Amino acid sequence: MGRKMQAALWICWIVSTPLFFMIAYHTSPPIYQGFQWDITAFLLLMCLVSVWPIIINDTPIFYVQGVSLVVFLLFGLFIELLLTQIAVIVLLLKVRVGSKDLYRYPLNALLFYFISIGSAAIYYLAGGTHGRLTINEDLLAIFLYGLSIFVINQFLLSIIQVVIYKMRFAFFTRSFLWECFTSLLVFPMGIGLYFLYLQVGMKAIFFVGTPFLGLSIFLSLYYKSQRINRYLQKASEIGHQLTEKLHKKDVLDIFMEKIVDMIPVERAYLIDVFEKDMLRIVRRYENGIIHASGEEAKSPDRGISGHVYIMRESFLFHKRKQWKHIQQSQLPKTVESLIAVPVMRNQVLIGIVILASNKKHAFDRAQLMIIDLLSVYLGVAIENAKNYEETRRQSEHCSLTGLYNYRYFEQKLERDFQRLHQHELAALTLILLDIDHFKNINDTYGHYSGNEVLIQLSHRLLNYVKKQGIGTVARYGGEEFVILLPNMDKQSSIAYAEEIRQLIANHPFEIDHSLQNSLSRSIAVFLTASIGVATAPLDAEDTFSLIRHADRAMYIGAKKAGRNKVAVYVS
Ligand code: GH3
Ligand code: MG
Ligand code: MG
Repeated sequence: MGRKMQAALWICWIVSTPLFFMIAYHTSPPIYQGFQWDITAFLLLMCLVSVWPIIINDTPIFYVQGVSLVVFLLFGLFIELLLTQIAVIVLLLKVRVGSKDLYRYPLNALLFYFISIGSAAIYYLAGGTHGRLTINEDLLAIFLYGLSIFVINQFLLSIIQVVIYKMRFAFFTRSFLWECFTSLLVFPMGIGLYFLYLQVGMKAIFFVGTPFLGLSIFLSLYYKSQRINRYLQKASEIGHQLTEKLHKKDVLDIFMEKIVDMIPVERAYLIDVFEKDMLRIVRRYENGIIHASGEEAKSPDRGISGHVYIMRESFLFHKRKQWKHIQQSQLPKTVESLIAVPVMRNQVLIGIVILASNKKHAFDRAQLMIIDLLSVYLGVAIENAKNYEETRRQSEHCSLTGLYNYRYFEQKLERDFQRLHQHELAALTLILLDIDHFKNINDTYGHYSGNEVLIQLSHRLLNYVKKQGIGTVARYGGEEFVILLPNMDKQSSIAYAEEIRQLIANHPFEIDHSLQNSLSRSIAVFLTASIGVATAPLDAEDTFSLIRHADRAMYIGAKKAGRNKVAVYVS
């Protein structure tokens, strides 16, 4: 809410308070009927009832009106107005309205002025009085009084929601249904209290007031457990969605989306723990948007995440004072409430979740419990995704050279051909490369050294392809390699292949010769390769013939023609 609006509320409150009390005093002065102390007893009951409200979306629902009804009938509007205002202050103290939300005091005070005075007006219009009422003659007026309390309350709450909180108008909200339900319980009890009070005096407060208080305590607890139930239900849904995801990225996205949807927060951070002791924010939620941030890693010796990293436990802070001893937090000055939870998997810390709100007392134990629970799901889901990604990586890569393997190459070729047929690609070139006389390397220096050469060659190819920014290298088998080049015309492809040929022929490979020779030394060996080039759709119309034609060019045009050559397929 804006500052101007808040100032306006305070001014309204200051101006109207004496006014409303004066009106109340003149229309309905205090009626003592000789038992002033009883007013204190009623006030006490009202205050006690206010301590156990139900809070739905920041709107407290309380049952004080069941008692204020009796106070109104017995002592008149002025006393009712006074006692209700005191009860409202107790309520707001109980729900811990923070210093940033102080405007809620004048707002609620005004709300209850209107309710008290409006419903009293209806009561008097309906012919209601404050004498000794009888259940047969005065019930209608009492009923209308109760009804108008309910209606005015709902009407004003809707206005407050739309005008002050800028929320969309909704009629059948959860708070409306609860208000209906509690009103149906509370008003009959209030009427019962009134008539019993006329009969037996103060004892009535005990007979009806005690169960009344009990009821409000039970409803409050019931609502809380209902809320936890709803949270648990949501948490289990989210858990299922998380564990279904195969990629870590998706797991993180779903987790953030669901968390900020479920719990009202201003900021949320998901922190990755990697290489055992480095932390990095991988997802951040600020100003209503989730970012995947490529934040720099930091060591875990600072801030809230550092604290969780060291303590390995969850934290719930209600206000800044409680966590200001934690040094060098990067959170902005406005943050008050915090939930911070470690994500563990097999006793290893793999992540940290932090939720922040600018309000004091924004989070409670139930929410902490739910985040704790979800972080267990998150841990499992991240591990599943990592395992899946690792298995997949292994199935697509050659374990010796780290390059893509034949299986991956085959699939990629298939996909690229589809793109070619759908005219997403204009051309697709295949470069096939076979090392010349590789058998000699094995025979001279041993199989192990042969492997070393294959690894070095792979690095060379990979670096070259990366530098060019185009091409996919794979180990085709043995000492044969392939490079797929999408959208490269024939001339450029030949130049590309020629550079690779030179890259191999002009720079020696290092062979660790210690196995053959007791003296440890490495020697330089020069190697060459024969290369074949074929381009689709010019040279081939399917994957099979593209491979065959590149192979033919390599064998006939390069190997047979003396090796260390680049040859292009000619039909
Ligand atoms: P050219 O291609 O010039 O005709 O002669 P080459 O000696 O390279 O041809 P060939 O295909 O007859 O031999 C290939 C050799 O590559 C046979 C095999 O021992 C070796 N080789 C294949 N895979 C590996 C491997 O993973 N490691 C090692 N060390 N050698 C391998
Ligand atoms: Mg070969
Ligand atoms: Mg060979």
